[in-house]
Amino acid sequence: MNVADSEVVVSILSKQGFKLTDEISDASVILINTCSIRENAEQRIWNRLKAIRHLKNKKNEVIVGLIGCMAERLKEKVLEAEQLVDIVAGPDAYRDLPVLVAEAESGHKAVNVLLSREETYADISPVRMDKNGVSSFVSIMRGCNNMCTYCVVPYVRGAERSREPGSIIKEVRQLFKSGYREVTLIGQNVDSYKWEDKGAVTEFPQLLEKVARIDPLLRVRFSTSHPKDISDDLLRIIARYDNICKHIHLPAQSGSTRILKLMNREYSREWYMDRISAIRTIIPDCAISTDMISGFCTETEEDHQASLSLMEWVGFDFAYMFKYSERPGTKAARKLKDDVPDNIKTARLNEIIALQNRLSAKSKRNDVGRIFEVLIEGFSKRSDEYLSGRTSQNKIVVFPKGNKRKGEFVRVLVDRCTSATLIGKISDNK
Ligand code: SAH
Ligand code: SF4
Repeated sequence: MNVADSEVVVSILSKQGFKLTDEISDASVILINTCSIRENAEQRIWNRLKAIRHLKNKKNEVIVGLIGCMAERLKEKVLEAEQLVDIVAGPDAYRDLPVLVAEAESGHKAVNVLLSREETYADISPVRMDKNGVSSFVSIMRGCNNMCTYCVVPYVRGAERSREPGSIIKEVRQLFKSGYREVTLIGQNVDSYKWEDKGAVTEFPQLLEKVARIDPLLRVRFSTSHPKDISDDLLRIIARYDNICKHIHLPAQSGSTRILKLMNREYSREWYMDRISAIRTIIPDCAISTDMISGFCTETEEDHQASLSLMEWVGFDFAYMFKYSERPGTKAARKLKDDVPDNIKTARLNEIIALQNRLSAKSKRNDVGRIFEVLIEGFSKRSDEYLSGRTSQNKIVVFPKGNKRKGEFVRVLVDRCTSATLIGKISDNK
């Protein structure tokens, strides 16, 4: 989400003559894109600001801006208490940045944190900041209308709005033309994507299909699906197209129906399991990943065990795992007591991580001996003699380069694995 937002910001500023630099000491404007979804993400921003202070001290004319979802909540704190930040711009105010920079240049603090019901930046072609030139994010919607009680997103990024499909297709075509071979369509809940135009409705399965049809050589991914909304229709579209990647990120958050209810996730453990069974039936060989939260309000040992047993039952290929942190203004902060002691949250998170490590290792071991089609993203981190890419299931594979190069598809026979990576060799076996 944040990478896609930064790319929109770079595009808006480039049109006004600004140039992107890799060297922070060369910059005359430094914008820090923020995320306030979890407490530690917020903590990192404070550390970042501290690191920037010496630049400002050395070169007073440098303009520092805080943009993104921390903007609204922290505007007073950063503008007044810190005396370091000149610009604060919320996630719907990026078009205003050239004006805000000019205001800051004339010595005023410049703020725009208004949220919008319409802004999708549909007409802005993001300037790609990723260096691989092979895979890219494409934002298809902004904001969120779900009210998960722990989550700050609906407050800081506003209501859900879908982006006009024509502009999405145009952006993806352009990416394909400039050599990209993979796009990830992103939104907080892609299953509720909806665009109506003169009575014609485009929902996510149709959008995904349209994107997949652009070219069979373009891989398509998407994130994030919501377990309450993911439909069999969507699963059938994924199964039908080889170039739609066989990986679904379906955050469970908890395995306890009681906790899911308190989280207002609008599904039960059984419902989640039913969706997993549907995926397994309709798309055999689909990787499934999740987000898990440990220590949500009132979570008991029994609830925690339910999370572990759900993880084991699904056999997730990958997971993002978090300790619950109360976020200001959310329903949980207002109505529920953050009553699980920190040491217990940590101990449960560690158990979740240990289990996932075992599941991830098993998922990789199962791939040994099989041949996968891999999209090459570049050299491996360790050696220029090896290339690195991903399988459709989103697993990283490293193999000796032969005469292959970045952006090509290659069939690789996996012959071993480490905890994070599959290792193999190019296979000519069709
Ligand atoms: N829209 C996506 C995820 C958005 S936030 C979804 O609904 O799945 C990404 C992840 O951050 C969430 O899935 C959740 O696991 C985690 N998260 C959000 N708020 C949190 C909080 N207050 N404490 C801990 N983890 C949180
Ligand atoms: Fe937050 Fe829930 Fe929306 Fe995801 S679906 S962004 S967790 S409110």
